[in-house]
Amino acid sequence: MGRVATVRPYTDFPPLDVGSGARVFVLTGAGISAESGIRTFRDAGGLWEEHRVEEVASPEGWASDPALVWRFYSIRRAQAGTVVPNAAHDALAGLERTLGERLLVCTQNVDPLHERAGSRRVVHMHGELAKSRCERDHAPPFNDAGEYMDLSSIPRCECGGRIRPHICWFGEVPFEMDRILAALSECTLFVTIGSSGAVYPAAGFARIARQRGAQTIYVGPERPENADAFDECRLGNAGDAVPGLFQTTP
Ligand code: NAD
Repeated sequence: MGRVATVRPYTDFPPLDVGSGARVFVLTGAGISAESGIRTFRDAGGLWEEHRVEEVASPEGWASDPALVWRFYSIRRAQAGTVVPNAAHDALAGLERTLGERLLVCTQNVDPLHERAGSRRVVHMHGELAKSRCERDHAPPFNDAGEYMDLSSIPRCECGGRIRPHICWFGEVPFEMDRILAALSECTLFVTIGSSGAVYPAAGFARIARQRGAQTIYVGPERPENADAFDECRLGNAGDAVPGLFQTTP
């Protein structure tokens, strides 16, 4: 059983002290990109831009209609070219400039907004829109801005397999879990921003960090499903709450 988190507006809490010695793990979800104009699952009532997630984000969907899957991600790629980071992405990039390797940002998002804001220590556990790979894993992921709108335009790897989006679909194992688990075991402060706490394994990270002794904080407009894994839920939109969230000087 978890403890009951303190759930209050973010303005009721003081900034988090990340002075010398603190090691910070930040997990971001779709909510951090909402104010940049990228819709979350929740906004769409469990649909992702009018599609059931199984159709466009599962190995089964890929097997049954790869052209539909590529049309879906091609539209997301085109959209990603037009969006800009918001104040929350900017604040995390600024935090990295101060903390350096004492900060790791792990994102569930496939958009490029953390990097566009200037963050470099970012793990994309669910992949990246701007990368593709062979469906048979014959070659490593590569940068790819292509938009493939029908079956005949989908490129093939030299092994004959189709090129697929480098995205972790439902039922697949997220990327870089070793690096993530190592950082979780070292962090003294764990912060989740804008994630419903419904998608595992990410939703279990707060509990792992807490078991290792870290303080655990949630930031978002509503209580997440895994609220009992946090010491505090600071209610507010990321663009308002994140810029003043961390105090880096004594
Ligand atoms: P989710 O859609 O399940 O939940 C979004 C969360 O964001 C909700 O808890 C909501 O309260 C919160 N939120 C909404 N507006 C916010 C704001 N302004 N500031 C802060 N929080 C806000 O998202 P999830 O938990 O990240 O999981 C969904 C999965 O969907 C992930 O695996 C992710 O890969 C994928 N996804 C990614 C993107 C993206 O790349 N931008 C967009 C949609 C979905």
